[in-house]
Amino acid sequence: MSLGVASYPPEALAHLNQIAYTHDAVVPASSHLGDWSIGPGGAEINLHGNSQELWSTLHHEIGHHVVETNPELKADLLDSIATEGFAEDRAAFLEQYSPDLRGSEACAEAIAQFKSNPPAFAALYPQTASLLEARVSA
Ligand SMILES: [Zn+2]
Repeated sequence: MSLGVASYPPEALAHLNQIAYTHDAVVPASSHLGDWSIGPGGAEINLHGNSQELWSTLHHEIGHHVVETNPELKADLLDSIATEGFAEDRAAFLEQYSPDLRGSEACAEAIAQFKSNPPAFAALYPQTASLLEARVSA
C-alpha cells in the first residue's frame, strides 16, 4: 500500500501543478507549515519547516486540494467528522483558525491523519475512514 502522493486517485489531484518545500532552521507555528492555493492556472502547495511534520503537512495540504475541488466530498466528510467527533477531538488544533475556516481545516486534518496512519485513524473514526478509503484512496 502506498502512503504517498500515489495513494490518491489521479482525479483527486487534477490541477495540482506544484508541490514545493522550503527548509526553515526555525520551524514556524503549525498553522504556517504549509499552504494550498489555487488560481486560474491551477493549484500549488508550499511546505515549510523541517522534516518532522513534513509528511502530515503534505497530506494536510493535499487534503485541502481534494476537498476544495470536490464540494460534494467536502459536505460528506464534514457530516462524517461531525458525527464521529473528530473536530471536537482536534479542537486545540482548530482553535488556531478563524471559525469560518475550521470546517476546511477539519477536513484537511482528517485526511492528513487518515493518510499518515490509516489503521490508527480507522480505529478511532471508522465511518470517516471508510469514506476516505472509498473516495480519497487510489
Ligand atoms: Zn490547513
